[in-house]
Amino acid sequence: MPRPLWAPWRLEYVGTADEQEGCIFCRALEGTDEEGLVVHRGRAGFVLLNKFPYASGHLMIAPVRHTGEFGDLEDEEVLEVHRLAAGGIGALAQVYEPQGYTLGWNLGRIAGAGVTDHVHMHLVPRWAGDTNFMPVLADVKVLPEHLLETRGKLAAAWPG
Ligand SMILES: [Zn+2]
Repeated sequence: MPRPLWAPWRLEYVGTADEQEGCIFCRALEGTDEEGLVVHRGRAGFVLLNKFPYASGHLMIAPVRHTGEFGDLEDEEVLEVHRLAAGGIGALAQVYEPQGYTLGWNLGRIAGAGVTDHVHMHLVPRWAGDTNFMPVLADVKVLPEHLLETRGKLAAAWPG
């Protein structure tokens, strides 16, 4: 079983997210699944891998529509994001057999959002002894499992 990974590189990511061109979610939608690390596409929502994961298989679920306003999500978007999260749990269970999951929305920079103008839910698989999101030993470089390989596995394991 793959071990959960620490994520010191997230700190750098949060600092540089603003410097990237355009919206990472909209860009992911425009490219191929491999380019955008998209795991599953729905009608009003889609699922992609976090390039800077807290753990192997860290997914993000976003509405297709570009909006930074949580309260402005349409019913269809809310429903599909929820259903896609359930699908992600199904795929993660099959591939990684995590012991639990953390799901959540970070709204605003202070809450930890690296991208604030396209709302998204995080789905993070959890194992006993993982970091509970606390960054550790920032100078230790831990390479994530190859993201393309993870994407392929989860896409193939998508339920339904
Ligand atoms: Zn966007």
